[in-house]
Amino acid sequence: MSKTKIIAIANQKGGVGKTTTALNLGVGLVNNGKKVLLIDADPQGDLTTCLGWDRQDELDKSLANVLEKVIKDIPLEENEAILHHKEGVDLVPSNIDLETIELGLVNIMSREFILKSYLEQIKDKYDYIIIDCRPSLSMITLNALASADSVIIPVQAHYLSAKGMTQLIQTINNVRKRINPNLKIDGVLITLADMQTRVAKTTLETLQSNYGGKIKIYNTIIPQGVKAVEGTMAGKSLYTYDKNSKPAIAYENFCKEVLKDEKQRTKNEFDKCR
Ligand code: ADP
Ligand code: MG
Repeated sequence: MSKTKIIAIANQKGGVGKTTTALNLGVGLVNNGKKVLLIDADPQGDLTTCLGWDRQDELDKSLANVLEKVIKDIPLEENEAILHHKEGVDLVPSNIDLETIELGLVNIMSREFILKSYLEQIKDKYDYIIIDCRPSLSMITLNALASADSVIIPVQAHYLSAKGMTQLIQTINNVRKRINPNLKIDGVLITLADMQTRVAKTTLETLQSNYGGKIKIYNTIIPQGVKAVEGTMAGKSLYTYDKNSKPAIAYENFCKEVLKDEKQRTKNEFDKCR
């Protein structure tokens, strides 16, 4: 198997489509023959709920348990805390216990690298690990950025959302300087777009004038659609819930774009080495 790629889906704003993107990118990559692990790195456990595990307090094991073991240097069991979803994607679920772990990290040495140390132990089984970050730039999110090869930033189609990216970019730059020099931004994905209005276009123009040339903005724009909400409530990906819906088709195109970029990047690196 080729090298595992770890992608963090991050934006400190809530409600911009991070969880929906993590889920549908994850399952979309599975549908393209990849082995994918999703990490729910939000104590709210939305990704866990969206994949159908809605009684989070009854989870046998979660991300909090494995991180606690890493902190205490206790060996992990085989596949510990990893759930298998029927659409072929694996998930390390989360619940409110992650909040306690996060608070405890403050006093721990190498506290930014706990998640990385966990992922190092399991990553060989997967082509992609996708981390769904919580809506804050807290210690768990820093752990995600420290572990990741790259970040995908979902941005709601809204002028203010596009303007609000500055803080996130600043954090990513700081992470690059101090804890993960190889962290890349794969791109910005415009989500929740009302295609009847000009808002998506204005957002795209704002992003292009602020970051154009420096950061890739995906060609695919994810439209707003009620199916996206219903799909998450049904514990399924959009492809299974309603593959002909506009958000499902858009996410399928987005996955293709991600895979195409990856191929191009691999080719560039190969050419550089020759
Ligand atoms: P985040 O993880 O950034 O907080 P979510 O993915 O949970 O964002 O999305 C926020 C809300 O918007 C959820 O209720 C979700 O079902 C809904 N949503 C996400 N994507 C879409 C879309 N394309 N169309 C309509 N609703 C969406
Ligand atoms: Mg979320």
